[in-house]
Amino acid sequence: MRADLHTHTTASDGALQPQTLIDRALEQGVELLSITDHDTLDGYRSLSVPEGLTLIRGIELSSRWQKSGIHVVGLNVRGEAMDGAIANQKRARADRAAQIADRLHRATGVDLLEAARTEAGHSQVGRPHFARAMVAAGLVGDAADAFRRYLGRGKVGDIRQHWPGLGRVVGWIRDAGGIAVLAHPARYRMTATRLKKLLTSFKAVGGEAMEVVSGTQNPQVTQNLADMCEAFGLLASCGSDFHQPAGPWSELGRYAPLPDHCRPVWDAW
Ligand code: AMP
Ligand code: MN
Ligand code: MN
Ligand code: MN
Repeated sequence: MRADLHTHTTASDGALQPQTLIDRALEQGVELLSITDHDTLDGYRSLSVPEGLTLIRGIELSSRWQKSGIHVVGLNVRGEAMDGAIANQKRARADRAAQIADRLHRATGVDLLEAARTEAGHSQVGRPHFARAMVAAGLVGDAADAFRRYLGRGKVGDIRQHWPGLGRVVGWIRDAGGIAVLAHPARYRMTATRLKKLLTSFKAVGGEAMEVVSGTQNPQVTQNLADMCEAFGLLASCGSDFHQPAGPWSELGRYAPLPDHCRPVWDAW
């Protein structure tokens, strides 16, 4: 089964329209797809799903655990049941964007809020939109530079306090009939000890799966994550975290398969 259960479109910070992404996924041989835009289901408005592809309704929710920003993918959620959660996240993103703009203003002398909103278009503002605005304003060479200097982990524009706690976010997903999946565990750059603490908390609040494969990652990382997944009795998910055809993200559906001993998350539906 070629599954890609973590992708982004123009409904959040991806480059492709949802319909374009679906067509591309089919071309890449993906059979099971989820569009998991940040804190929104807008990408699911008026889609036509071609034969040969199964689309699972998903979302990537931003949360906070201790001092870390943690992403949780909700798979197979009922759309209407997410309305309250999405309204909460929308408010959080708007307040956070204003604070990011304040901080960047102090750091660079430039007010970037309007430019970031323009970059976001109809979607909610996120750090990638600030990164693009900073490139356009000539403050940085490229988006990667913007993250390295201003927006990445621990920099002035990395603000997490607006996000709800991990338990609240997992609860929203469960209440909507979905499965909560810990997104890209290796991306948090935690020690194994801290990651195990996170998995303990995640499991305690009702998390049921984790991404064992997130894009092209080191095989040793995949092995370690697969072992943890099994030890914690979680289901295993996989996805590209695709944002655009070029750049640091992997192509749709193009990464190593889940290790054999993993129980795939799609066994749950
Ligand atoms: P936000 O949702 O506002 O917290 O922004 C997080 C998003 O920023 C991620 O989903 C990525 O799309 C993007 N991102 C995070 N780190 C980097 C980086 N170092 N370079 C480019 N994009 C990044
Ligand atoms: Mn993103
Ligand atoms: Mn993420
Ligand atoms: Mn993502």
